Amino acid sequence: MNIAVTDSIAPARMGGARPLIRVVTVGHVDHGKSTLIGRLLHETGSLPDGKIEALKAVSDRRGMKFEWSFVLDALQTERDRGITLDTSQVHFRTAARDVVLIDAPGHAELLRNMITGAAQADAALLIVDAAEGVRGQTRRHAYLLHLLGLRQVAVLINKMDKVGFDEARFREIEAEIARHLASVELLATAFIPISARDGDGIARHSASLAWYDGPSVLEVLDQFPVNKPAADLPLRMPVQAIYAFGDQRIIAGRIESGRVAVGDEIMIAPRGTRARVRSIEAWPLPREAHAPQSADAGRSVGLTLDQAVLVDRGDIVATGAAPCKTVRRLRARVFWLHETPLKPGASVTVRLGMAECRGEIGAIENVVDPGELSAHGSSAIERNNVGDIEIALAQSIAADLHAANPRTGRLVLDLGGRIAGGGLVLAVEDEKESRGGGGAGGDRSSVRAEDLANLLRDLAPAERIARLRRDVEGKIIFTTSFGLEDQVILHLVAEQGADIDVVTLDTGRLFRETYHLWAETERRYGRRIRAIYPERDDLEALVERHGINGFYESRAARAACCHARKVAPLARALEDASAWIVGLRADQSVNRQGIDVVTRDAGLLKVSPLFDWTRETVHAFAAANGVPLNPLHAQGFASIGCASCTRATAPGEPERAGRWWWETDDKKECGLHVRPAGKE
Ligand code: SF4
Repeated sequence: MNIAVTDSIAPARMGGARPLIRVVTVGHVDHGKSTLIGRLLHETGSLPDGKIEALKAVSDRRGMKFEWSFVLDALQTERDRGITLDTSQVHFRTAARDVVLIDAPGHAELLRNMITGAAQADAALLIVDAAEGVRGQTRRHAYLLHLLGLRQVAVLINKMDKVGFDEARFREIEAEIARHLASVELLATAFIPISARDGDGIARHSASLAWYDGPSVLEVLDQFPVNKPAADLPLRMPVQAIYAFGDQRIIAGRIESGRVAVGDEIMIAPRGTRARVRSIEAWPLPREAHAPQSADAGRSVGLTLDQAVLVDRGDIVATGAAPCKTVRRLRARVFWLHETPLKPGASVTVRLGMAECRGEIGAIENVVDPGELSAHGSSAIERNNVGDIEIALAQSIAADLHAANPRTGRLVLDLGGRIAGGGLVLAVEDEKESRGGGGAGGDRSSVRAEDLANLLRDLAPAERIARLRRDVEGKIIFTTSFGLEDQVILHLVAEQGADIDVVTLDTGRLFRETYHLWAETERRYGRRIRAIYPERDDLEALVERHGINGFYESRAARAACCHARKVAPLARALEDASAWIVGLRADQSVNRQGIDVVTRDAGLLKVSPLFDWTRETVHAFAAANGVPLNPLHAQGFASIGCASCTRATAPGEPERAGRWWWETDDKKECGLHVRPAGKE
């Protein structure tokens, strides 16, 4: 029996090697969260024997009808005899995973706990009442997920029993919430009709929902890609202390992520000095024969090195292959706790891991009052509000983006000697790169999207690319899928010899013609076009879960395939980029109307040099300049994607009609280009 409703902020792994996923539940207060949680605990056999019977007996005695929400209430009461914290964490097991459901009495608490690191989630369940539909709080909670940077969301349309399990009603709400999620840059992995009260759609399909072919709630919990365990992330060991024993110096710290072994070459950030690990010391002192040869994330160890190097408390032991950034300026999303509002110009102490230095607050944007959950124009962050801030640091420190490493991408701000706020590192300006020193990878740019758009809008596409390269520091990536627009952009990039990294997402499902064109384009322009491949584990999990061609079967399977083969590889490709060039045009589809030449997408400058060209203009340019084109265009393929999911379009059909032709227009994006027109 496995039940745990805890007030712990750091729950232990429950089942050894079983994957653990943390899922936050959000939605309008009356839309059935507690009922869902009670039902999930029951369906997974997580309640103690006799618990339901005891609660039913109490309900009978009181003359009340039994409700599944009583389960959570009862557990909550038992917990409250001890200590009351803001976030309850409900643990249970599915067939494949350990699940921690994170619930909170209010979104302010949830926001604070998630941003300051007291609670962390990998995915979210957003609950909507089928009878009431999308309410203001539903929209605010979708915005909350956006603020928290959560990208995996399943929408549960609950109380289907109240609407007679009507598919038309389900589709209506699905379309409405999908539009709203897209407006805050979220793509739902599944929309699931359920009746938490009666159990439909929770653990299995029911006759009442015979028209629904997607996953159940338990299935979707097993489908969410699990974030990498800390040990699989790059090595990060913030240095806590340096001990000297005679000639020997021991560098002590806790390994926050990755692993280290005797003989490994390490690099100490921010200095960038390198050395090899001579030994790993552990406490209590082992006999020499048993001295550890390696250590993983979570272990506190001492390292001795093969040579004397400069190292201080606050430095981070990393590797040359995956170094930390050396940072003097950074951008962070912070939850502010101090009664004095945080304003531009304020002087704070910034703590990142064991490092500590003075920082001055620069621009403040996107300030949100959690009571409203919508951005307002304030340039000060009041107590218990959230905002995005820029900080200029008094000295260089080592840092990671939260998106790259949640363990080390968090900071704490002190004001007047007190903890005053905590937050996520969204972007950093790498000191080496801002000095023009190169180095591995770039960071999100501090150039404002609106400013760059104003500069580029009136230029020709070739000048837009040249100006972008001149004005934006760091790595610029152009992703091509070898379609018409991509080939023209590649021609422009190649003609000016621009220092732009050209990559393609090789999903393994491309047309034969596309592979031929890839080789021909490399030859013609003498440029390497780097392939980014899906992770093998992701593909194996996908095929095991949905079958080889599962993407035709349901939208959830299609989204999972696009996620594994495109979205996740793209995220890796863009991890250290400042700007991303794409071949979008405004007249390609309704979804793309109103796009601008530059927008900001998850911290990146997203640049569409052909945004205002028509298809005819692009064709004419390609013909006039002998740009090699995919022969599929001549066969009626307007847009080039995976062979299995792209067909030719008939005359008069919209350009995007050939992509995922079996799905309706609002589902035709794969997650690479989902961004509301004109939104930052
Ligand atoms: Fe999979 Fe089709 Fe998406 Fe390609 S386009 S990744 S085959 S679902």
